[in-house]
Amino acid sequence: PFDVLIIGGGPAGASAAIYSARKGLRTGIVADRFGGQVMDTAGIENFISIKETEGPKLSAALEAHVRQYDVDVISSQRVKELFPASRPGGLHGVALESGPILHARTIIIATGAHWRQLGVPGEEEYRNKGVAYCPHCDGPFYKGKRVAVAGGGNSGVEAAIDLAGIVSHVTLLQRGSRLKADKVLQDKLLSLPNVTVLMEALTTRIQGNGKNVTGLTYRGGDGADHHIDLEGVFVQIGLLPNTDWLRGTLKLSDYGEIVVNDHGATSVPGIFAAGDATTTPYKQIVIAVGDGAKASLSAFDYLIRVPVT
Ligand code: FAD
Repeated sequence: PFDVLIIGGGPAGASAAIYSARKGLRTGIVADRFGGQVMDTAGIENFISIKETEGPKLSAALEAHVRQYDVDVISSQRVKELFPASRPGGLHGVALESGPILHARTIIIATGAHWRQLGVPGEEEYRNKGVAYCPHCDGPFYKGKRVAVAGGGNSGVEAAIDLAGIVSHVTLLQRGSRLKADKVLQDKLLSLPNVTVLMEALTTRIQGNGKNVTGLTYRGGDGADHHIDLEGVFVQIGLLPNTDWLRGTLKLSDYGEIVVNDHGATSVPGIFAAGDATTTPYKQIVIAVGDGAKASLSAFDYLIRVPVT
């Protein structure tokens, strides 16, 4: 069995693997796709100490760093079920979709998350070419340009307020007849001079010129189609943690995030979690990397304290 088995090969999982291996622990990492969401990212300018890089380049660097160490890398495999140990110090099991069950004294779950998509024509085609999901990441790329934010919940309204300070104009489109964000955020949004808020506006298509986004079409409350010329669309209708396979085993939040404490410990002794799959606030690469290190050091602490049973 492994001392530490990490599920997920994004920034959080890679960091956890490196920290575990450096403690001399028998470490394994199972990843469906090494790099995780970083693989879907174009420019990255906020991974501190690297002025700019690209997703596939950073993913390759994460994997190469992990492979520097004696880590069992089990890639292109998905896990489907967790079997927590029946007592502290016991072995946990993880079933792979392909059949085998792996055993480990500690587990670090870093299966990340994915953005809910609008599912409209043009969204996939112009992803990273005007269609964006992360205002902290991509906001500065739209300096002085016109953007829309789809989604009127807290994340949509926060994104619109954030972007209004960077871009020339923001149009916020909310599908329903009222914003769902906290009142204080709504008041702030409505006080901004360069923001237009559209209610009962259902985004139906994102247009482009083959290279970049040039506009968006929405169906209004009047039932008619309307067009907006713009350069960017931020989709903010939910970040979904990849935790469906954990239901009934670990405590999850109302949003499906794994509930962790400040040491990255979950509700089950010996099982830790890190990154976007957890309740950690602000989902970013630099935060996931820090979280992975923290979960790994917590796993080490557990291993030296809790006797094998
Ligand atoms: P993820 O990166 O989501 O990795 C999850 C890992 O788990 C993957 O290896 C996946 O294959 C694996 N996995 C999931 N389910 C299973 C399973 N059942 N079995 C086995 N493996 C599984 N952040 C920034 O800081 N800067 C940016 O510029 C930036 N730009 C972004 C642009 C886009 C388009 C997106 C989508 C995100 C961006 N982010 C950015 C956010 C950043 O990518 C995430 O915060 C970060 O990748 C989270 O790391 P993670 O390791 O927690 O999860």
